[in-house]
Amino acid sequence: MTDKLLPCPFCGGDPEQDYQRSFRWLKDGRLDHGAAIYCTFCNADMIMCRGDHPELSDEERMAIMVENWNRRADHARQTTGSAGGPTYLDFITPDEIFEKGPDAVKKWQAAKLVELLGPSAA
Ligand SMILES: [Zn+2]
Repeated sequence: MTDKLLPCPFCGGDPEQDYQRSFRWLKDGRLDHGAAIYCTFCNADMIMCRGDHPELSDEERMAIMVENWNRRADHARQTTGSAGGPTYLDFITPDEIFEKGPDAVKKWQAAKLVELLGPSAA
C-alpha cells in the first residue's frame, strides 16, 4: 500500500515508504523495526520506531509519518515556492542546458516534469 506523498521537502525527489524498516537500538543492540519514509534521491529520512510507540499498529505509525512528511513538504513549498535549495530537477539538468541560460533551463525542466509526472504537471 502506498499513500499519496508529496515530493521531498529538501530536493523535490520521489519519496518511498517502508512499513518495516529495521534498525538496531543503540542502548542495548536489540533489533526492532519502525515505519519509515525516505527520499530516493537525497536520502532524507524519517522513522517512527515501534519500541517508542508500541500502542500503535504499523499502519497507524505510517499514517502519522505520512502526515509529518507531507506537512514538512507542504511548508517547504509554501515558504520557498519550491522544495528549497537545489531541486531534483536541478541535479538532473545537463550542464549544456545550464550553459544556454535560465530560459533554456526553465524550458528543459518544464518538459522533464511533464515527462516524469504526466501532462497535469504542465
Ligand atoms: Zn530529497
